[in-house]
Amino acid sequence: MYRLNSFIVNIFLKFNFTDFMNYWQKIVDQYPVLIVLICFMLPFIEALFPVLPIIAFIAFNMQNLGLLWGFIVTVLGSTIGTYFVFLILNYSLSKKIRKKIERNPDVLKASRWLEKKGFVFCSLVMGNPFMPTSIFNYAFSLTRINRKKYFLIVLISRLLLVGSVTILGAAFSVEENPIAVIWVLLVYVVVYIIYLLLIKVFKNIKKRKRRNIMSKKSVRDVNLKGKTVLIRVDFNVPLKDNVITDDNRIVQALPTIKYIKEQGAKLVLFSHLGRVKEESDKAKSSMALVAKRLSELLEEKIIFVPETRGEKLEQAIKELQVGEILMFENTRFEDVPGKKESKNDPELGKYWASLGDVFVNDAFGTAHREHASNVGIASNIKEVVAGFLMEKEIKFIGEAVDNPEKPFVAILGGAKVSDKISVIENLINKADKILICGAMAYTFFSAQGYEIGTSKCEKDYVNYAKELLAKAKGKIILPVDNVVAKEFSETAESQIVLTKDLPVDQMGLDIGPETIKLFERELQGAKTVVWNGPAGVFEFKKFAVGTNAICKILAELENATTIIGGGDSAAAAIQMGYEDKFTHISTGGGASLEYLEGKELPGIASINNK
Ligand code: ADP
Ligand code: MG
Repeated sequence: MYRLNSFIVNIFLKFNFTDFMNYWQKIVDQYPVLIVLICFMLPFIEALFPVLPIIAFIAFNMQNLGLLWGFIVTVLGSTIGTYFVFLILNYSLSKKIRKKIERNPDVLKASRWLEKKGFVFCSLVMGNPFMPTSIFNYAFSLTRINRKKYFLIVLISRLLLVGSVTILGAAFSVEENPIAVIWVLLVYVVVYIIYLLLIKVFKNIKKRKRRNIMSKKSVRDVNLKGKTVLIRVDFNVPLKDNVITDDNRIVQALPTIKYIKEQGAKLVLFSHLGRVKEESDKAKSSMALVAKRLSELLEEKIIFVPETRGEKLEQAIKELQVGEILMFENTRFEDVPGKKESKNDPELGKYWASLGDVFVNDAFGTAHREHASNVGIASNIKEVVAGFLMEKEIKFIGEAVDNPEKPFVAILGGAKVSDKISVIENLINKADKILICGAMAYTFFSAQGYEIGTSKCEKDYVNYAKELLAKAKGKIILPVDNVVAKEFSETAESQIVLTKDLPVDQMGLDIGPETIKLFERELQGAKTVVWNGPAGVFEFKKFAVGTNAICKILAELENATTIIGGGDSAAAAIQMGYEDKFTHISTGGGASLEYLEGKELPGIASINNK
């Protein structure tokens, strides 16, 4: 055995490694715990450099632990190390930087290429001793690869790598130890088969998990009688000069509040409001106004406690009677100092959780954030359920996108391709048609080689749009005519031109009448329609015609589920009087966008499954 290892060492390392190993051997003999420590350390080094560390690692382990255990420890240690580095990369990049990197068209192309490559290919590339796994790790951390799948790729590639190096070493020393080869091969085959079986198990787990996402527990599924119920609502209403300019968010939460009250519970409500970055922001973002408005809407008393923690709050909750409603102060007050709410400080989530028996999360608008007032509480309390508003969002946006009744048509408009890139990527595989409008369309026209005049265009994304058009194979429908004007203004003189005739000195600000007809034809018979992003600059009446027409077409569709997800598109539809004409208008701009991207939102993930 010793000969085998020193042989590996001699072949791959030109310097005298044996002395070094002997020295180590002495130390290790004296302090056996060192082996464990080194086994933990080496994989991290191995994950960063190719060839040398892995060979030293194999030799070291085999010398100290014997062939079989050396092999197992090497494979496992090396897998865990590489995987850990991947996780660090995955979590350490801040969301903003990630988004920037992910949206870079070249990176996008590379990561899409990698996503397409098969399991075997990736395992083989990473199993190559000259491949620094760090590069692959980094690349993979940018893709949308499933973490379990990545773990398996690493594991199999490590098996290949360690196995082949060991076999190579053993093969050269057959004369001294012929059985070693058979041993290694045997272990290799057995372990390989075990992992092939494991892949099957993992696949099943993945399927089951996906189904679970659709069946979150709701307030209806728990007994609330006599319980103190913590309710995270989204009362982040727009304020102007200390007046609430739109109370829609409060109104939307009323069904959940009324239901919980009827069940004979004690209610503790809380929400964030506005931006609280420093002490001076607190004065203008107190929840007192919201509590007052809620009291008017419910026509009953709300006990408002202007604190986010402490004895006064605890006492008030203790004294709460069945059916009474208490509201405490803006959760973001905890952001000053230390960003405890926004950074999900574990102590804060635990503290808030200790104030009640059941947690109802009804704040879809913040579901894409991992804050103490949603995820933090959820991880410290047993019963976590969705409120009615949250349930509706999960049902409509989540299910419509993951499991739509076909034909499924998506309408994507708004300002930028780069904002919607992940939505397009997600929907292109799921929708039967994608109708593109808004400023986004001009980047696509540019990709088709049309003159686009002074219209908004993201030059960096022209190539991406070109590829997308090729990939979509006719799924993408673009406007055939446009309303153009010389300047970006309410009063600008406008005219209608065909897409192929866009003038050099004008910009497209809305879709034209022929496009409206085209879209109407494409939407006939659709069973599910998801709309994100207005068709034109709807803020100017003159260029709101296209957006208005889409509202009308969707309102008149029969037997179709129609959903709006997106801040501005939702605002446009409501402002144009179509509030009740859609199956669902999402209440969360950013959250609904991320939901449409197919992401699992942390706020929703933390709700218990049925
Ligand atoms: P949402 O919030 O629904 O996701 P976006 O924020 O992506 O939508 O885009 C909305 C903005 O896009 C609006 O402010 C609108 O004025 C702008 N927009 C739409 N069409 C055009 C256009 N042709 N040129 C310039 N801006 C446009
Ligand atoms: Mg917007």
